[in-house]
Amino acid sequence: KKTLKNCIHKIRSDNLAHVDWSGTTYAWSDEVLKVLNDVFHIKSFRPKQLAAINCTLSGQHAIVVMPTGAGKSLCYQLPALVKPGLTLVISPLVSLMEDQVRSLTKKNIPAKLMSSSSPKQETTEILNALKDSKTDMKLLYVTPERLAKSKRFMANLQKCHADGRLQRIAIDEVHCCSTWGHDFRPDYKFLGVLADMFKNVPILGLTATATTNVLIDVQKILNILGCLVIKSTFNRPNLFYKIIEKPTSQDECMLILEKLLKGRYKGQSGIIYAHSIKDAEDIASKLRQRKLKVGCYHANLDAATRSEVHLKWHDNRYQAIVATVAFGMGIDKPDVRFVIHHSISKSMENYYQESGRAGRDGLRSECVILYRMQDIFKVSTMVFSATASLKHLYGMVKYCLNGSLCRRLLIAEHFDETWGDSDCRKMCDVCCNPQTVVKEIDLKPHCATISEVAAIAEAEDVKLTAQKLIDAWFLKGPTNVRHSGKAPSISRAIAEDIIAYLLVKKYLFEEFHYTAYSTISYIKAGVNMSEATDDSFELKMPIRKYFTFDLDTPPDMHMDLKDIDETEESPSLNDEKKETKKRSGSGSSKE
Ligand code: ADP
Ligand code: MG
Ligand code: ZN
Repeated sequence: KKTLKNCIHKIRSDNLAHVDWSGTTYAWSDEVLKVLNDVFHIKSFRPKQLAAINCTLSGQHAIVVMPTGAGKSLCYQLPALVKPGLTLVISPLVSLMEDQVRSLTKKNIPAKLMSSSSPKQETTEILNALKDSKTDMKLLYVTPERLAKSKRFMANLQKCHADGRLQRIAIDEVHCCSTWGHDFRPDYKFLGVLADMFKNVPILGLTATATTNVLIDVQKILNILGCLVIKSTFNRPNLFYKIIEKPTSQDECMLILEKLLKGRYKGQSGIIYAHSIKDAEDIASKLRQRKLKVGCYHANLDAATRSEVHLKWHDNRYQAIVATVAFGMGIDKPDVRFVIHHSISKSMENYYQESGRAGRDGLRSECVILYRMQDIFKVSTMVFSATASLKHLYGMVKYCLNGSLCRRLLIAEHFDETWGDSDCRKMCDVCCNPQTVVKEIDLKPHCATISEVAAIAEAEDVKLTAQKLIDAWFLKGPTNVRHSGKAPSISRAIAEDIIAYLLVKKYLFEEFHYTAYSTISYIKAGVNMSEATDDSFELKMPIRKYFTFDLDTPPDMHMDLKDIDETEESPSLNDEKKETKKRSGSGSSKE
């Protein structure tokens, strides 16, 4: 029964997907263009905006997937003015809603916001407006908890619907419904009732999260399974992606940053993301000692200091901001030429967003990660408690371990986009250094040794961190956990890559121990390790080279991007014809 239902949904969504939604001959097309120009003062649509608008105006449920900053809001703000009635906008963040309402009000568009902290009188006025057929209110922004917790609000909204005045429901950051996403919010679960409760009202979900399983989960939760998914490409052709080997010594690491800021990025503006508040302060003060003009930004600063730092950076009085991920919202500096990650992000999703703050003006900009194995555990010991977060982290690790596949390909795969091999145009470190043969290392003997060490440690009741495990493997450190064979003839750097690779591939796993002061990650043999002793077992890892990177000279700003067609169709969720190229690379295979 269930498969039949899925089948029907599949056929339905396939049919929808084959419609070209970007046409200009709909009954509302003239009005759409007029509102775009006269009310929003925008000359033309960005990719997929018109398709989303036509689709929702024709009464279909839809989910719009576009990167942050691509212009998702317009996809519901504009339709709201083309047809009569009210558009309800559900959004998780009051501050973002306030920004939107302010900017709509400036354009003389009647928009209101209702949150749990709205003044009583305003709330009453809005509640009355819902019942009033003569109200001029066109958009109403609410938080999901406001919706879930106010019976009166729901009752009045039903009245609005019964009068035929509920035009559309837009759900911003719609991935928050899914526990598989990176930003689950329990209040979003409640939104599942909307499709049933407000029959014939189109729902428009919006998100920058593009993974297919999250999108399907969202459709299930919202009861709009099989709806059209309109997805614009996530490729940022002007961003150059690069991984640098992070030195173990703090000083060497600072030297790299200093050289980059004084050499390669001299006179350019950028962001350096750090793992923690302490790291951010530390890096900022060390860069200042080296006579660099940098600001520091994190959640522990008061609001006034934060906006001052932001402003100084914005006016180029600071060359760079050293920040935690708290630095994100409201960054609209177009000429960010570099985003350096001093430590890995906690997921590819986060990395895409953080690095994506570079190059908004379309000019060549660079996204660099300083990677070393040890940083995995800095993040894992922080995120371990949240569901799915280790999986997200390992996705990030895969990207860093990769030395043989185009980084764009990995990013595209993460966002479930198909990818042609030639599309990078040498805008990542791997494509700049094409290798004819990728050397592989046979992991079979190493797995045997590592599982022996793990077994000995287990028997000796010793817990091994990744570093201790590598020590024992190299016959160093405490003698009671050393194995019986010879020390491996590989470098410590490759050994670290192997451990990270085995973690990502579930041959090893992290077990977390909590002390009063910190969480420690210990490494144990994982579910797949038992196969490692089979005769037929085979596991090879491509040996990663860190490609050279000129720290002292500015990059050539020239890019051959002219013939990239911005409006190019990107594959949608409904497009099953994905090439499934078999690859044996490090980062590409999906578990
Ligand atoms: P998102 O929600 O996708 O992150 P927003 O809706 O906040 O992005 O839009 C980001 C910015 O892009 C806004 O300043 C918006 O006015 C602008 N914008 C949206 N669509 C267009 C367009 N077609 N042309 C020019 N600017 C646009
Ligand atoms: Mg948005
Ligand atoms: Zn590439």
